Amino acid sequence: MASEKELTQKTRKQSFQTPRGMKDILAEDWLYYDFILQNAKKIFEFYGFKRIETPLLEEAELFTKGVGKKTEIVGKEMYLLKTKGEQGFLALRPEGTAPIVRAYIEKGMFNLPQPIKLYYFGSFFRHEKPQAGRYRQFYQFGAEIIGEDDIASEVKIIMLSKIFLESLGFAKKDIFLLLNSIGCSKCRAVYIRELKKYYRKNNKQICSDCRRRIQENPLRVLDCKNEKCYPVKEGAPFILDYLCTECNNHFKSLLEYLEYLNIPYILDKTLVRGLDYYTRTVFEFCLDDEKSKISLGGGGRYDKLAEIIGRVKKPGVGVAFGVERLMEEMIQRGKGFKSAKPEVFLVYIGEAAKKMSFKILEQFRKEKILIGENLEKNNLRAQLKNADRLGVKYVFMLGQQEVLDEMIILKDMNSGLQELIPLDKIIPEIKKRLNK
Ligand code: AMP
Repeated sequence: MASEKELTQKTRKQSFQTPRGMKDILAEDWLYYDFILQNAKKIFEFYGFKRIETPLLEEAELFTKGVGKKTEIVGKEMYLLKTKGEQGFLALRPEGTAPIVRAYIEKGMFNLPQPIKLYYFGSFFRHEKPQAGRYRQFYQFGAEIIGEDDIASEVKIIMLSKIFLESLGFAKKDIFLLLNSIGCSKCRAVYIRELKKYYRKNNKQICSDCRRRIQENPLRVLDCKNEKCYPVKEGAPFILDYLCTECNNHFKSLLEYLEYLNIPYILDKTLVRGLDYYTRTVFEFCLDDEKSKISLGGGGRYDKLAEIIGRVKKPGVGVAFGVERLMEEMIQRGKGFKSAKPEVFLVYIGEAAKKMSFKILEQFRKEKILIGENLEKNNLRAQLKNADRLGVKYVFMLGQQEVLDEMIILKDMNSGLQELIPLDKIIPEIKKRLNK
């Protein structure tokens, strides 16, 4: 027979863990997730945004076509599945915009009065290198306005994003809005030609990744994080100098609105974002840490996405926030949450009292008064230990005799005084004592 030590070692070896880069969301985390979602809902629903949830799985082609085969999140980080009966591959969704635009087209939302305003809250999957603030499964809150190319869509998304961040307790002065325009396909092509020319000239001063990027996905050289490339990046041509008249007017109009609404911004010529579908406006909301800038969320305009994935010519603008990032930064900045604690506890002795306890607890729930209990434990001392641990002010005690007399004992834990109370007076009595 195996010894106890061998058994423990075996159990340890056979115990399972969350997959790398993924995490359990525990009760204390949900306080943040719920708070973040509630705040987002209040703000975005006021402006007519409706909730949408698309499947976790989509046809992989939706992302290769819509987001771009050469982007990191599709080309390198997408989880692909081959299932029985499926023609091609399915993908665990790496981002939310392409699925929503797919639903917009599939459900004929373009026939409804435009624009369509939608928001979502759910899990996304990217096979990234796990590190602080970077997971392989993470939550995003996102919002999209589809159907109009008017600047009001961008202004609304940016304004509400800022209000949302402030509602989570981030100080106005700590939130940075980085802004850029990457133009339309016409002016971007002119810019890319210049960028390639410039990078080719500086070929020796850049990293090997950038040498590849400048061929495959040229704009991405601008957000290379390799220090070697910084001086070259600094001297690179600025896309804003290459915008065509329409793109330029569109961007100028956005800046005017932001100034009018007192929304400060920083023009960032290296901001291009990682997804191919963006056109014109791109933006990112960051927090400035002493060491680095932390991206909380970002988005932009995607005027060609619906056309690429469904031959429907409808423009759109969207934003997505990383919920884990928001939560981690809230904790860093001392915005803590604690679960509500009951001030009252119910203990029982004997079967009749145990049964009656279920009815009493329901009375408290209906009155929204938190009450602790430990009905699974028949031992009185164990129940009282729990009440003690919670530090409640009052304990109700129910035994066989009390059930027969339709009475209950109420103990004041501070003074230690006990008194008998009629069972049908529990609620008014405790409300009086708790000043409710
Ligand atoms: P994106 O969808 O890439 O535009 O990212 C929007 C936001 O989602 C980022 O600013 C992050 O806050 C968050 N995010 C993106 N990737 C991850 C990840 N791997 N883990 C956690 N959060 C992420």
